[in-house]
Amino acid sequence: MTVNTLPNSASKVLPLLGRSQSELTEWVVSQGQPSYRGKQLHDWLYNKGARSLEDITVFPKGWREEFAQNPTVEIGRSQIHLHKTTRDGTEKFLLKLADGEIVETVGIPTSKRLTVCVSTQVGCPMACDFCATGKGGFRRNLAKHEIIDQVLTVQEVMQQRVSHIVFMGMGEPLLNYENLVGAIAVINKDIGIGQRNITVSTVGIPNQIPRFAEEHLQVTLAVSLHAPTQEVRAQVIPSADRYPLIALMDDCREYVEITGRRISFEYTLLAGVNDAPEQAEELAYLIRGFQSHVNLIPYNTVSDADYKRPTERAIQAFVQVLEHYKVAVSVRRTRGLEADAACGQLRGQHEKALAK
Ligand code: SAH
Repeated sequence: MTVNTLPNSASKVLPLLGRSQSELTEWVVSQGQPSYRGKQLHDWLYNKGARSLEDITVFPKGWREEFAQNPTVEIGRSQIHLHKTTRDGTEKFLLKLADGEIVETVGIPTSKRLTVCVSTQVGCPMACDFCATGKGGFRRNLAKHEIIDQVLTVQEVMQQRVSHIVFMGMGEPLLNYENLVGAIAVINKDIGIGQRNITVSTVGIPNQIPRFAEEHLQVTLAVSLHAPTQEVRAQVIPSADRYPLIALMDDCREYVEITGRRISFEYTLLAGVNDAPEQAEELAYLIRGFQSHVNLIPYNTVSDADYKRPTERAIQAFVQVLEHYKVAVSVRRTRGLEADAACGQLRGQHEKALAK
C-alpha cells in the first residue's frame, strides 16, 4: 500500500501577508511582472486592506484572472467570525482562520491611542489556573500572517490607525518564537507601529528571555510574575515547577543588562492567594534594584476557576506597600469587563455555546 504523503494542493498556497516590500518585489518579478508592482502590492496588503489578488485593481486584469483560476499564493487574511462592541468602546473579535480554528483579538481605544491585544496561539499549553485560555487547552501556534492579520482587521473595522500592540491575547508568545519575532518586524516596518509601542507578555519559558534580549528590540517585555515566592507561583502556574522563580529572575536581570530596557512585571491579584500586604513586601524585596514597573491586574472572574477578585481596599493596601518601597506600580483596570472580561473568555464562551 502506498501512503500519499504529498501535501494537498491547498497547502501549497502560500500567504503574501507577512512579506516585506523587497520579498514582495522578488515575488512579482518571479511572476514576470515589473518590479514597481512590488511596492503596489505592499501598499494594497498593508494599507488598503486587500483580501484577494482580484481586489488589487491596479494589477493587470489578465494576471489577476490567472490567479483566480490557479492560485499559488493568497493574501492570507482571516474572516471575522464574531464582532462585539462593549459599552466602554472596547471591541472584541473572534477571527476564523483558514483551517477553521478561532482566535480572539481585542481593540482597546483610549483617548488618542488604539491598542490591539494580539494572540499568538490558538489556545495555550501553559494551563495557568486562573486564565480562561489556559483552561481551554492548546490547539496550535499561529502563523506569522495570522498574527499580523489581527492588527489589520482591528485597524480596518475601527477605522483608526493602531498605535500600540500588546501580545497579551491567547497563547504564550515565547513558545511561538520565530513567528512572534517575524510578526514584530512586520508590525514595525510594514504597518509602521513603533517598537516602543509594542509589549510582549510572557509567563517565562526557559532560555527564551535571554534569547529574546539578543534580538535587541526596543519593545517592552512584560513578565507574568503573579507571586513573590516559588511556592505560591507554582500553585497557580504549573510551568513554574520546571522554571523556578529564581531562574526566571536571573533571566530577567540578564534581559535588563543586555537591552537596557526596564521590565514590566505583571501580577494578577487573587484574593487570599497573593494579595496580602506581606506578599507585597516580599514582592518589593524580590524585585529590589530592578529597573522595572509592576502592573497589578485585579483578577477577572473566569467561570471555571475558583478564584476571587480582591476587594478595593485590599488592592489599595497592596499598592501602598509597594509605593512605600518606591516600586513603580499601576493597577490595570480591565476595560470591557461586562462583555467577557479578559482575553480568551469570549472564545471560551463561544465554544461552550456551540457545544450545547
Ligand atoms: N501568556 C502570556 C500572555 C497572557 S495574557 C503571559 O502569561 O504573560 C496577559 C496577562 O493577563 C498575563 O499576565 C495573564 O496571567 C493575565 N491573566 C490571564 N487571565 C487573567 C484573569 N482571569 N484575570 C486577570 N489576569 C489574567
